Amino acid sequence: MSRALVVEDDLRIRHFVRLALEGEGLGVVEASTLAEARNQLSDRPPDLLILDLGLPDGDGVDFIRELRQWSSLPILVLSARAQETDKVMALDIGADDYLGKPFGIAELLARMRALLRRHAQPNASPPTIHFGQVVVDFVRHTVSREGHPVHLTVLEFRLLNCLVTKPGVVITQRQLLNEVWGPGHADHGHYLRVYVGRLRHKLEEDPAQPRHFITETGIGYRFVI
Ligand code: CA
Repeated sequence: MSRALVVEDDLRIRHFVRLALEGEGLGVVEASTLAEARNQLSDRPPDLLILDLGLPDGDGVDFIRELRQWSSLPILVLSARAQETDKVMALDIGADDYLGKPFGIAELLARMRALLRRHAQPNASPPTIHFGQVVVDFVRHTVSREGHPVHLTVLEFRLLNCLVTKPGVVITQRQLLNEVWGPGHADHGHYLRVYVGRLRHKLEEDPAQPRHFITETGIGYRFVI
């Protein structure tokens, strides 16, 4: 049975999350402070960390930075709207995904499943990925749509690769720019808009209403199968 550690000082949210996860058959341990979270982590590391950013004894962002020095535990951040900058920072320093408050059970469970799936096979990227009418073949470096080859440039393929190998999970602009264009391009968000636009044009059924390459406004992009 997978176990989640829920670090949240708001009792109602903590209980809401606990009920949702237990309903999915997950074990849940709770912490309302970072000190409690550290104790829980050293007692018995969970399979997933659900972390509020504003906690009474410290900042969740600092906690992620500290944790990432020794752990690759999947981290789902819960953040209030006012913490927009913190949210991006949390993702940039290694959180895996975020949920803005308020959130619904379905959304919480979908994010959680995506993270647990990804963590279960960290390096096992499949040879092909299918979505809509599209097949991406990572071995041959080819893409087809409705059986017809689609030509992608090297950068387009690299961006596609970054997005589709992390289905269901948000990737920040900074992370994508770093992986596709290399360090030093962190401010070139307009590259991403152009290239994501090209991927949508080539691979989405309706590029104006994308179903697979989703914009997370102010944060980055999320690929949905
Ligand atoms: Ca809080």
